[in-house]
Amino acid sequence: MTTDPLILLIEDELHIRRFLRAVLTAHRYRLIEAATAAEGLVAAQQQPALVILDLGLPDLDGLEVMRRLRTESQIPIVVLSARGQEGDKVAALELGADDYVTKPFNVDELLARLRATLRRAMRPRGESAPVFTAGSLRVDLANGQVSVAGRMVYLTPTEYRLLAELVRHAGKVLTHRDLLRAVWGLEYENESQYLRVYMGQLRHKLEENPARPRLLRTEPGVGYRLLTDDPDGPSHAAHHQAAESMP
Ligand code: CA
Repeated sequence: MTTDPLILLIEDELHIRRFLRAVLTAHRYRLIEAATAAEGLVAAQQQPALVILDLGLPDLDGLEVMRRLRTESQIPIVVLSARGQEGDKVAALELGADDYVTKPFNVDELLARLRATLRRAMRPRGESAPVFTAGSLRVDLANGQVSVAGRMVYLTPTEYRLLAELVRHAGKVLTHRDLLRAVWGLEYENESQYLRVYMGQLRHKLEENPARPRLLRTEPGVGYRLLTDDPDGPSHAAHHQAAESMP
């Protein structure tokens, strides 16, 4: 058996640290706690498996902490941000954050994000399974074939490039700019309306109910995420219903 993953929690609010300490230790994570950016940057030398980083810290902007952590390592970072700070989330993702959770957060959602981020981190860089499946969707990247519930779906080249980009980063949020650069090119990075149109088309072709997408999720103000089945976590339906949340 491998040892329990070590998580560094950088968060100034004591009640959130206490709460997360209880939750994370109950789920067999080991924890280092830091109440300031300065403590966090020192604690990062202990090489935790993942960092949970609050963006609102007393001594240094969380984005600056991100920047400093990223100059030293590729350690997975999940950001905690307050509601309404979409700009900060986008900035954090562009600085290399692996994911974010918005306060007040749902515990099951946070745990699912941690598991998914740790799983992705253990996979060799750039490697993705040649065949992706989630729900009734199947995408064969080697052959460029897409099917839903066993039926082949025809995608235009741009739709396919957009889907393939989401598949290659399945489970991770991609910002509007990430997707526009990857699919259309650098000069299109501000053309968010392209994305809206093409995501709409993909949902019509791939989702059972395009108005309530289950796989191609909008992350408001940030970007899009292709959901994956989380084999060791609660179902996505279940964690939206979970009542436990943190103020
Ligand atoms: Ca804070």
